[in-house]
Amino acid sequence: MTVTRFAPSPTGYMHIGNLRTALYSFLIAKHDGGKFILRIEDTDRERLVEGATDIIKSTLAVTGLNYDEGPDVGGDHGPYVQSERKEIYMEYAKKLVDMGYAYYCFCTKDRLEKLHEEDATGGYDRHCRNLSKEEVEKNLADGVPFVIRQKMPLEGVTSYVDSVFGEISTANSELQDQILMKADGYPTYNFCHVVDDYLMGVTHVVRGSEYLTSTPKYALLYDAFGWERPTYVHLPLLMGKNEDGSVSKLSKRHGAVSFQDLIKDGYLPEAVLNYIALLGWCPKNSETEFFDLDGLKAAFTIDGVSKSPAVFDFDKLLWFNGEYIHKLDDVKFRELIGDFIKSDIPDNINKEKMLSLLKTRISKLSEIDEKMAFFIALPEYDKELFLNKKNKIADFDIVKTVLLEAKATLCGVDSFDNDTLFTSLMPIAEKLAIKTGTLMWCIRIAVSGMAATPGGATEIMEVIGKNESLARIDVALDKLA
Ligand code: GLU
Repeated sequence: MTVTRFAPSPTGYMHIGNLRTALYSFLIAKHDGGKFILRIEDTDRERLVEGATDIIKSTLAVTGLNYDEGPDVGGDHGPYVQSERKEIYMEYAKKLVDMGYAYYCFCTKDRLEKLHEEDATGGYDRHCRNLSKEEVEKNLADGVPFVIRQKMPLEGVTSYVDSVFGEISTANSELQDQILMKADGYPTYNFCHVVDDYLMGVTHVVRGSEYLTSTPKYALLYDAFGWERPTYVHLPLLMGKNEDGSVSKLSKRHGAVSFQDLIKDGYLPEAVLNYIALLGWCPKNSETEFFDLDGLKAAFTIDGVSKSPAVFDFDKLLWFNGEYIHKLDDVKFRELIGDFIKSDIPDNINKEKMLSLLKTRISKLSEIDEKMAFFIALPEYDKELFLNKKNKIADFDIVKTVLLEAKATLCGVDSFDNDTLFTSLMPIAEKLAIKTGTLMWCIRIAVSGMAATPGGATEIMEVIGKNESLARIDVALDKLA
């Protein structure tokens, strides 16, 4: 069975790149009917941020990336938080020492710092690699602080085949004797994730390509233990567009790059998920770019993952988001938009009608205040706005005539719904021998003060009601007087 995991470090927020890793990892498992695990990697105690694990869990819940095993959910391989698994790692590290693939290092901080000062790129000089068994035992008995280091082969080459990037090889002479267990008794990421992936039965390790070159070291750990190596799936880099047209690693200066910030900015989780699915993966034989989570599960295969860097395009995301918003049913839209409406909506406004009109005109929920402003208060406008070539309005006389007729008609209309308004106003076009378009243009400008509006004249009047419509027509007549 395919088993994957998402193994974030709780460092504060859910970067879009992390969410993409979670998504791909989830999809690789679910495409095969496999299992998806959440594991919290919190052994770097200095980088811990309070509440960060909750953000991870809530993001996965909101996006539907439900895990089969993990914190809260449980499973046969727990605990799923690394700080609760400390003893396990020490036991495995000692096993490696016994087998000759790791060793105790008692070097003091001072000594290591000096080494670093002398040659910052040189790394550890393997000073403790060949201590005698007696020396080690004496130091341990004396309580000398220690770390445990991996004993890298000094010659030869270590290779593995990544499912996306192909064969990756590193000369063993370039590998540092990296620390597996730290002096504080916590393991390093380099060690514990390997132990956990093995113990949790992970078959596919899915993560960012920044781990591509470290993976030979991890493969050597699998070999040392005699464990079968997992399949590695490293994901392409995520880049952002800079102002000068160049690209660099996606970061805050490119815009909102955390899931939470995007949601706050009015993006829908489904749209974000759909968009990031396509950042580094291309569906085979598919005519659509629109996928819900079930669609993704069915379509996602590793051979569709690209190794070229993916560029995060905010315009494309905005477009996707708009498409998702336009497809919402009105009830759902009203529910979601609630939190984004900051302005007071006066009583004359038919809120439901207004929101139905606006739904297809916004690309993110946070645009709502700006888009509905003209319903609430008539914007300042210049009477020149009435002039319009297409509708053959070249002077203000016709506008005035139309508005006076419209005013007279509207005064006698009681039910301000779109259909009634339309049938009541239509005869004016015939009477004045003008096109419907010309008639409605004049009225629409008067009641909205804008050249482009969501909805036509009668729809706008339906939203703002009789008194406000007539008041706005009077404002226009004053301008034209
Ligand atoms: N904790 C690591 C990170 O957040 C996980 C890398 C991995 O998936 O192995 O980058």
